[in-house]
Amino acid sequence: MADTLKLVKKISRLADGKRSLRFMEVCGTHTVAIFRSGIRQILPDNVELVSGPGCPVCVTCDEYIDKAIAYARRKNFVIATFGDMLKVPGSRSSLAAVSAEGADVRIVYSPLDAIKLAEENPHKQIIFLAVGFETTAPTAAATVIAARIRGVKNLFMLSAQKLVPPALKLLLNDAAVHVDGFLLPGHVAVVVGAKAFKFLATDFRIPSAIGGFEADEILSALVNLLEQVDSGRATVANEYRSVVTDDGNVAAQRVLAQVYAVADAEWRGMGVIPASGLRMRDEFAEFDIERVEPIEIERGGKKSACRCGDVLRGLINPTQCPLFGRACKPLHAIGPCMVSVEGVCAAWFKYGGSNFKW
Ligand code: SF4
Repeated sequence: MADTLKLVKKISRLADGKRSLRFMEVCGTHTVAIFRSGIRQILPDNVELVSGPGCPVCVTCDEYIDKAIAYARRKNFVIATFGDMLKVPGSRSSLAAVSAEGADVRIVYSPLDAIKLAEENPHKQIIFLAVGFETTAPTAAATVIAARIRGVKNLFMLSAQKLVPPALKLLLNDAAVHVDGFLLPGHVAVVVGAKAFKFLATDFRIPSAIGGFEADEILSALVNLLEQVDSGRATVANEYRSVVTDDGNVAAQRVLAQVYAVADAEWRGMGVIPASGLRMRDEFAEFDIERVEPIEIERGGKKSACRCGDVLRGLINPTQCPLFGRACKPLHAIGPCMVSVEGVCAAWFKYGGSNFKW
């Protein structure tokens, strides 16, 4: 507690007399940790925290959900997915809805569970929804390698995995986005290493700090960001040294590179970002459902009033979406940012209450 108070006082001292500052966290776990620990409420009025595109479910676009639904409707196909994908709305329906209509959609807790499912159901085609950032992508890659070694022929991936650094680059090149520094995602940094974010300082001269997930770790990272602003320098500070190294987890990077190549990817509300996704290499094409069994989806579904895209770019707070807390609530979510437990809108709804900082 003594350390926490010291950090809070230091933040106040560093922020005193400064213009308004906006720092963006780009990790859903950070978003939830910041709310849960009440950090927003103790920050000086001129320091604002905004959430960026840090929740993998939230940044997954409608088209991907539509494809998953189309596969789910096929006879003998089973969709294996993490639970928070179920209620994410596509352009016309959701996996939860097609499951209620009779499609076979199963919740798994790891991609490795999908191998077991495939082995237990040899006459069905199992599709794992590989959604996530650098943190989880190596596990999906390891699953593909394990499936090959075990001779599993009925397991496939529908991939929408994404890379965080190119998204940050896009935000910084977007004139509508105003950010004075980034609280960088600790989990992603464990895999990619601090050096993957060096471009923030060298190319954009924007302060950034890799942070852990305890309140004091987040506060330390914020102190560091304010010190950088104060001194007029920009660096990639590593405030999560217990687990993040400069090079990251090289073994995980190797597994990932063995199975996946970098490719362009579409992000919800941000469009196609060059080199921000992963595509299975040709050597593993037999596990890529889109190449084994391509599917056509109907385009141009109903236009939603959901403003997740603006929320994910830090342009608005969730409460500025007219549907927030009215038509859109966790039990009746209109957009993915309210569905996922790490979604920004869900966090504002759950922890904001009367303490919303406008
Ligand atoms: S409150 Fe709901 S509708 Fe509005 S941006 Fe968030 S998820 Fe979308």
